[in-house]
Amino acid sequence: VAGSGPGGLAAGVRRRPLILSRTDDDSWDITEGVGATALSVARARAAESSQSRPLFTDPYAEHFVAAAVAAGWQSSFAGEALADNRFMQAMAAYIAVRTRYFDDFFSAAGLDQVVILAAGLDTRAWRLPWISGTVVYELDQPKVLEFKDEVLREHRAEPAARYVAVPVDLRHDWPQALRDKGFDPARPTAWLAEGLLPYLTAADQDLLFARIHQLSAVGSRVAVEAFSSEFFDPERLAQRRERLRAVADAAAAAGRPVPETEQLWYLESRSDVAGWLKQHGWDVAAISSPALLEHYGRPAPDDADEAVPGSLFVQGCLVSAK
Ligand code: SAM
Repeated sequence: VAGSGPGGLAAGVRRRPLILSRTDDDSWDITEGVGATALSVARARAAESSQSRPLFTDPYAEHFVAAAVAAGWQSSFAGEALADNRFMQAMAAYIAVRTRYFDDFFSAAGLDQVVILAAGLDTRAWRLPWISGTVVYELDQPKVLEFKDEVLREHRAEPAARYVAVPVDLRHDWPQALRDKGFDPARPTAWLAEGLLPYLTAADQDLLFARIHQLSAVGSRVAVEAFSSEFFDPERLAQRRERLRAVADAAAAAGRPVPETEQLWYLESRSDVAGWLKQHGWDVAAISSPALLEHYGRPAPDDADEAVPGSLFVQGCLVSAK
């Protein structure tokens, strides 16, 4: 599906081939493919942190970007070139709101065992006020976590909790890698999957949640940026792509081409995360991305709402014994 291009296009929507640049066992450094998406998120967090009334402050985000640029990363940020473009602003607002939502999740969860899946350049272990005795496990590809470690060390960043890096591919046996590092499945855990699911196949997403469930004691909590099957509907995706194309073309003309993130996604219909969790004994609350942007006072302008991914922010608490 992912490589076949959109079908059933609405009138007026041009057909463009979509090339999937993924393989089953691919791996990456921070500046390559899926790894570079973590840099894009860091860049958005750096921009938010420098606003006059930011939703959060991530003091390390700018250091990651600077280190990657110094190492030769061709920063393709269109932000400077398109500072007053409403689509770009809506996308930046989305990342800011998403970050704040998951910050708030951890503050409210009050659990002292935390697992951040596909952590990328997430700095919550360094910048959030954790309760004493908290351990934060971060899972991601080895080279991504190496880069992060180097930059944070260079800036003498001190974690605010006990920090444990778990370099592993989330398509491999990560539960074993996590246990090997001291994770205790008998203790309630706060789990996070932010900016991850489209980079997994539908089958790998199912396996991910089965494993989270398996490793969760009663009282565990999970927070997820989820995408509905409608989000992956080829016609809707093609329309969104065409609207974003104008932004991409303008950015390219300004010499700052934007990355084609969609080529890194598996565009497959997949399980509904909220429904799956409910079926497995989790109490679930969910909010759509437009509602969340409204909630944090950053609604997308009407003419740029397609820039905001139609995602669902889901939280669950495991209430019944397995
Ligand atoms: N969650 C982080 C955040 O919001 O700042 C990073 C999000 S970034 C868009 C996607 C991250 O997922 C990257 O760091 C990438 O390396 C990681 N990732 C995607 N697929 C993965 C896999 N199969 N195994 C390990 N990490 C993966």
